[in-house]
Amino acid sequence: MHLDKTLHHLLYLWVDACSQSGRDTYSCHWHCATMINLPPIIQRIKALLEEDTEASVTYAALEARLALEKVCYDRLRQRHDYISHDQLRKWQPGAVVNTLIKEVDEHLGETMTLSIGTNPAQAGVKPEDEEFVEVGTEIGFNPKRIAKMWQALAKLALHVRLPEHKGDHIAEYGDKAQIRAKVAGVVAELERLAKGTMTFSGLGAEVSFDCSCGETNKRRAKLLRNGQHVHCINPDCKLTWKAVKEGGDFNFESVTVPINCDECSAANHMPWRYFLDMKHDEVGSFSCHACGHKNYVQWRLTQVRRNDGG
Ligand SMILES: [Zn+2]
Ligand SMILES: [Zn+2]
Repeated sequence: MHLDKTLHHLLYLWVDACSQSGRDTYSCHWHCATMINLPPIIQRIKALLEEDTEASVTYAALEARLALEKVCYDRLRQRHDYISHDQLRKWQPGAVVNTLIKEVDEHLGETMTLSIGTNPAQAGVKPEDEEFVEVGTEIGFNPKRIAKMWQALAKLALHVRLPEHKGDHIAEYGDKAQIRAKVAGVVAELERLAKGTMTFSGLGAEVSFDCSCGETNKRRAKLLRNGQHVHCINPDCKLTWKAVKEGGDFNFESVTVPINCDECSAANHMPWRYFLDMKHDEVGSFSCHACGHKNYVQWRLTQVRRNDGG
């Protein structure tokens, strides 16, 4: 249970599988706004299963797999203010959700229900004596299970089996009964998820900093590690910031490489990521901040020697 008294009305957030209770003040953000609309997708899959041909069941498997991707990516979209697209690294729905749990919202896999006090919060009134009405619920899911279903659908229905020898038969479709059973499992999961009425971007204290580009970057303090690199969430910005823990607070230092100008020797502090994105044979350039001279850079292979004498 988390309580938030920053608004005039008491908010009560119940997180399944979270045994904490008490009067902690948490900041949480929620949206009742656009979520993916699952019922029409579920209807479409069921209609294809009812047709019950090899082709329609295969198409149902494709729809079911797309639905799982939409569910996972929607959770990402709602939390995209907290992570740069660049730092996701993997695109597979299960991997995306695991990154989100690690970096953005540790409660993503859990079901959360938000209620709001019917009366303005008053000093001296215990939260348990307040009256609450439910605002909405976000249904959690197990990312491992979703990833397994997503992979199984592809294996059963969406690839043709590789022939193992010359006489091997190339089947038109996968095994209809097996595909049907797997799709039915996904439909049950989608029906469970469709009961959700709202979505959260995460829970817990936030730290934020303004990037030189003007973009405000936010992270959950609890999930931030000392020394962690945070890419600016602005897709047009190449700056990376290092989180440095000092006492209980985080400071953010830009991660740059100093390069001395070829003309005037002034040090130019370039964003590290600017060079990481360059291909090995690519020539990059930047104009010196002091004299405007155009400088060129390129990755070079250098032979090195081991220092330990081995
Ligand atoms: Zn930026
Ligand atoms: Zn210069």
